[in-house]
Amino acid sequence: MKDKSLNDFISLGLPTLITDSLTASGFTEPTKIQTQAIPKLLEGRDMMGIAQTGSGKTAAFGLPILAGIMGLTGRPRPMTTRALILAPTRELAVQIEENLRKFAGSKMKLDTVLVLGGVSRYHQVGKIAKGVDVVVATPGRLKDLMDDNKIRLNETRWLVLDEADRMLDMGFIAPVRAIAKQIGLRRQTMLFSATMAAEVEDLAKTLLKDPIKVEAAPQGSTVVKIDQRVIMSGSKAKRNVLNDLLADEKEGMERVIIFSRTKHGADRVTKNLAIDGHEAAAIHGNKSQNARQAALKGFANGSVRILVATDIAARGIDVQGITHVVNYELPDDPENYVHRIGRTGRNGASGIAITLCDGTEKSKLRDVERLIRRTLPVSGEVNLVEEAPVRGARNSPGAPSGARTARNPKQNARKFNTPRPGGERTKGGASRDANAPRDASAGPARDARNPLAPARSVKPPRADGLKAKTRWTTAAKKSAARNRRGEG
Ligand code: AMP
Repeated sequence: MKDKSLNDFISLGLPTLITDSLTASGFTEPTKIQTQAIPKLLEGRDMMGIAQTGSGKTAAFGLPILAGIMGLTGRPRPMTTRALILAPTRELAVQIEENLRKFAGSKMKLDTVLVLGGVSRYHQVGKIAKGVDVVVATPGRLKDLMDDNKIRLNETRWLVLDEADRMLDMGFIAPVRAIAKQIGLRRQTMLFSATMAAEVEDLAKTLLKDPIKVEAAPQGSTVVKIDQRVIMSGSKAKRNVLNDLLADEKEGMERVIIFSRTKHGADRVTKNLAIDGHEAAAIHGNKSQNARQAALKGFANGSVRILVATDIAARGIDVQGITHVVNYELPDDPENYVHRIGRTGRNGASGIAITLCDGTEKSKLRDVERLIRRTLPVSGEVNLVEEAPVRGARNSPGAPSGARTARNPKQNARKFNTPRPGGERTKGGASRDANAPRDASAGPARDARNPLAPARSVKPPRADGLKAKTRWTTAAKKSAARNRRGEG
């Protein structure tokens, strides 16, 4: 039976001032990782936590640190910090700092500073000069300040490495080690990672002393609560598939995060969404810190419905109420799939993750399925004629009336929300394969809601379907060439 006494923060040994401010923020029940971690951290133990954003890990390490700081007397000395929290991305660092200030509430005086790249050092250096309680930093900028003698870590008692696996992936191993070395051995160290890769284990071995190990999935475990499915589609047809999904009221895409593999891709998707009548904000490494924060803010407060993000920029994003995650492209690293879909279904809410997969991405999809040990339901088809030259309606049987054609490129040109079967827009506004039978076109959106659709895209070939179309296209191509040469 569950021990009731562990079911509130007071029983975990935290000071009343902190538990009061937690109650005021609506935190009355510790999450699993908080219950496991907080009492041990209050005893001064080192910790190795396998946990993702969404598990409540920030409070798990943050509350004991705040309790420890409250127990200290006097002010931090100039140029020093009492606690140092390292995070791989600026967004995660911002979020951690916000959380700490929320946990501290109005009664505890807490001096914090964010030390991030991509913004001016001036205020960071100025604050540190006076001495602070907590520095939340990305490793690169902090190492710069250390090298310029703007910060001393000799009085730092708490060191947290959040999302250690990601920091290593991003090549921060050298600064992380250099920073830890400066802090010295009198510290309490906590390392959190979503995965336990060999490199993380190595780092943990060198930095942690006899750590306790805790493990927690995000609240409302992603795998169970998130409805995942795949829509097969030609790479260029993804734009239309996305438009169809966004326009589909039954799909209920209220707050959507779309993942692109590259920064350039994220910009392109955002631009196309704008052209197609959907306001979207983008967040990736080429954007300034201010632009990234503004995009996140608009998305979090609901003024922008769609956020387009790259994997790195999105790590640690904690926005409530994301109804859908769309993988516009599959990630190179299958683990990122898990991180991506974890953006929805937070705090026990249910969410939907839709992956658009083209023919070149099938092996990545298999890698993902191997990792999550599940076969995902698949609908749609890779459009085999996608790369064929623009054809007129005459050449494709079964064109729905009103479909845009090469001959009449402007027709319906702005009606992007009208489901168009795999119809691929081109620069000139003409539609490729605008004439595929309605059934095929309805495919992505409608089939997509059928999670029982056969796993893998092995739909039986249709009598009048893609194969026939492909054959026709080749024949028509030759015929068009003959026409151009005046042979027709
Ligand atoms: P984290 O995993 O630290 O990023 O936390 C994920 C989200 O859960 C954040 O929005 C926290 O504010 C929230 N959270 C953390 N602990 C609790 C709790 N005990 N009860 C309710 N919400 C929490």
